[in-house]
Amino acid sequence: MRNKLMDRRDFVKSTLAGLGGLFFLPKIDRKWGLRIVEAKGKEKKIVYRTLGKTGIKVPVISMGTNHLDNPNLVRAALDSGIVMIDTAQAYQRGQDEGMIGEVLKGRPRDSYVIATKARLPNNQTTGLYTGEATEGAFLNKVDSSLKNLGLDYVDIYYHHNVWKRESALYEPILKALEKVKKAGKARFVGITTHMNEPEVIRAAVDSKFYDVILAAYNFQQKHYAEMRNAIASAAQAGVGIVGMKAIRGGSGQIPFVKNAAAALKWVLQDPNVGTIVPGFTTFDEMNMDLAVMEDPTLSDSEKNDLRKEASLPGLYCQGCRTCLGHCPEHLPIPDLMRAYMYAHGYRNLTHAQDLVLSLNLPTRVCEDCSQCRVRCSVGFNVSGKIRDVVRLRDILPVFIG
Ligand code: SF4
Ligand code: SF4
Repeated sequence: MRNKLMDRRDFVKSTLAGLGGLFFLPKIDRKWGLRIVEAKGKEKKIVYRTLGKTGIKVPVISMGTNHLDNPNLVRAALDSGIVMIDTAQAYQRGQDEGMIGEVLKGRPRDSYVIATKARLPNNQTTGLYTGEATEGAFLNKVDSSLKNLGLDYVDIYYHHNVWKRESALYEPILKALEKVKKAGKARFVGITTHMNEPEVIRAAVDSKFYDVILAAYNFQQKHYAEMRNAIASAAQAGVGIVGMKAIRGGSGQIPFVKNAAAALKWVLQDPNVGTIVPGFTTFDEMNMDLAVMEDPTLSDSEKNDLRKEASLPGLYCQGCRTCLGHCPEHLPIPDLMRAYMYAHGYRNLTHAQDLVLSLNLPTRVCEDCSQCRVRCSVGFNVSGKIRDVVRLRDILPVFIG
């Protein structure tokens, strides 16, 4: 049992051990991929990369819209040189695609790249699909996305939020995506993963099916070396890589990481990452991300900041799943930790509540244990966080969103 579980001290040791070696990669050639772009009447030198064999060329910073409700920020981002917008059918309780569609109206179709995504019902504990997850259901999701966006096609349609190899290869969804591509509703198809990412990345490569992978990747992942290897194999196979959760899952960037720009640059030091999709929600955050888009080089002082922060647990659940067998109630602990992060890090109660409500939790949660049996690898007080976040079940959505 001991070697299966990693306590907080082991975690800190394992993370720090990595700091001396592969944690920082050699400096990126700054000339590589530079493109002069005119934005708001000014010339900018923006670093561009290509998403694998798709040939899609985008700046290293794209825009995630998970926590956004301000269309003017999307307009400003596009006018400032950002090209790729990343949305999902579920974002903003189904309103995000519609908002993005309004922003895109009237813009030349070749001036932006749009990616969206959907998921089907699956078992939250095993990560495997249930009988409701059919090819037809996924095709309907794609049609709804296009309708919401007001577009005939998207550039990338993702199979969303997968953490098991079997689910990455789930035939009904692969068949649906194949039809979507053939019908010209998506130029390329992809898969997203927030947990157990290396397994999903390797499955995606083995499938020879997916064109793009959107994966959580950040400097605090204790499995970053494994991530880097999996990403390298995917890149070698021509799969485009998009990074997310670069700031340990934060969009309200400050509470997560003191030096958010350094956290973004850390992901971009991996040359196999084509772009990242930080979810900035204010103009200040956007401007900081735009500066990274022009120069993603990590300075020595930024490296020091990351070194200091790398061993702090923060709010980011590693998705390591070492906790899964501990709870007699089989609670979906990583999902609940993510909901807690949405509530307290992103300060996005809507998103946190949606996640909590989707988990089919028992009526009484953590009320019958005299002591919590769960040992988290990064030292989270799991039951405390769960008790806190499940209170969202008792609030009417109208008072939150
Ligand atoms: S207190 Fe711990 S062991 Fe008990 S139900 Fe909650 S998470 Fe599970
Ligand atoms: S709650 Fe802790 S042990 Fe469980 S997946 Fe997250 S980081 Fe790992």
